[in-house]
Amino acid sequence: MKVIVLGAGIIGTASAWFLQRAGHEVTVIDRQPGPAQETSFANGGQISVSHAEPWANPSAPLKLLKWLGREDAPLLFRLRPEWLQWRWGMAFLRECTAARTAHNIRQIVAIAEYSRQTLQAVRAETGIAYDCETRGILHFYTDEEEFRQSLAAAQLMRELGCPRQTVSADEVVRIEPALASIRRKIAGGDFTATDESGDIYQFTTGLAERCVQAGVQFRFNTSVTRLLSEGSGAGARIAGVEVIDEHGRHQRLQADSYVLALGSFSQPLAKAVGVDLLLYPGKGYSATYQVRRPDLAPKVSLTDDGHKLVISRLGDRLRVAGTAELNGYTRELNPVRCEAITRRTRELFPEACDYDRPQYWTGLRPLTPSNVPYIGRTKLANLFLNTGHGTLGLTMGCGSGKAIADIVSGRRPDVDFAFTSMAASHDRRPLISVPAKS
Ligand SMILES: Cc1cc2nc3c(=O)[nH]c(=O)nc-3n(C[C@H](O)[C@H](O)[C@H](O)COP(=O)(O)OP(=O)(O)OC[C@H]3O[C@@H](n4cnc5c(N)ncnc54)[C@H](O)[C@@H]3O)c2cc1C
Repeated sequence: MKVIVLGAGIIGTASAWFLQRAGHEVTVIDRQPGPAQETSFANGGQISVSHAEPWANPSAPLKLLKWLGREDAPLLFRLRPEWLQWRWGMAFLRECTAARTAHNIRQIVAIAEYSRQTLQAVRAETGIAYDCETRGILHFYTDEEEFRQSLAAAQLMRELGCPRQTVSADEVVRIEPALASIRRKIAGGDFTATDESGDIYQFTTGLAERCVQAGVQFRFNTSVTRLLSEGSGAGARIAGVEVIDEHGRHQRLQADSYVLALGSFSQPLAKAVGVDLLLYPGKGYSATYQVRRPDLAPKVSLTDDGHKLVISRLGDRLRVAGTAELNGYTRELNPVRCEAITRRTRELFPEACDYDRPQYWTGLRPLTPSNVPYIGRTKLANLFLNTGHGTLGLTMGCGSGKAIADIVSGRRPDVDFAFTSMAASHDRRPLISVPAKS
């Protein structure tokens, strides 16, 4: 079968890899000159199964209110006269109940755990080098109350099979000695030895190279302008995609099936063919510093809970990422947010890096209100979704790619997850459409 994958970020590339291995003839289309040039370019680098708690949780509404209008807030909602943003916001609030949060955590842990195993298998098979560290993820708290509240979340994760251990401040410093200078400020932490970290750009470009070697065709500098549908009711399907190719020519490309993996930009294209995704861009920042003193820079991937920053050692670089701004599709760098990241990193590891030459970056997380991605079918028989991975696209990427390849091939994926089934355009929540293997 011929399959066109729209998007060459981590999600589209992983989909292409597994589709090709399932025996399909695969073409990937992306508007950039290479893979992983947008959100999959410089993220936090964590493969973080143990911190699958979505932003939508019972404590979120109050925090959001507190943060409204604060330029350096970890999560900032800039209200706009935009119907999608308001609808998304209302759906986000509905996902904040304890019952919805528990449901969403189960879904995210299921696909994330499956994905980590899939990533490990891809790594072993392909030998892709991506500054991977398998030293676990250490989450540290500087606020007693936040630490106390984390105990229940850690317990839930353990019940779901994640070995997330609660640790004392002394143990935090034993696990990552680079935190010694702030020992007195640490209230405690939790550590998951099975979590990992690595460079998403290196991984995705490495996988894209392996895809090409295996026969996948990539068409870069090619913008998708429209999905073309035909038929109605149960017979509705995609007849082709309209693109503007690298020479500026309009073309129509055709395949038997189509996988939509355009990150935040999946929403408008899907909407035009009646597939209504609740997907909104959540702008995040990262800063990358050259490590000057390797002995003083952390090696274990960290999460600084108080500042909502993740910190990953990528070879001789330190990547620090975080913050979220819901403010449309702009990727503009806000200097206040950039400086806040450098200030905090310098405070944590004063001598470790060259802080005079930071590389700042922003990316748009494709956010669903629940942080559960859309993976599965649509009401158009040959249009499949693999999008909306929000804060955890690296964590969930390989597993999502493998699962969508199974679904496109008419097989049942190996993971018990609420795959999307959009029988009608008003169904926005993921429903179980593909019975999971027991
Ligand atoms: C600051 C930050 C930190 C993060 N940290 C982590 C982390 O530590 N761990 C983790 O698991 N996740 C993290 N994430 C999330 C993760 O990076 C994303 O979920 C993931 O990169 C999304 O991948 P994607 O393939 O869906 O989207 P993208 O990487 O954006 O890929 C979509 C592709 O579609 C292409 N495209 C879009 N529109 C068109 C069009 N019309 N025509 C042709 N091509 C088009 C784009 O060029 C792009 O290549 C972070 C994100 C941010 C922003």
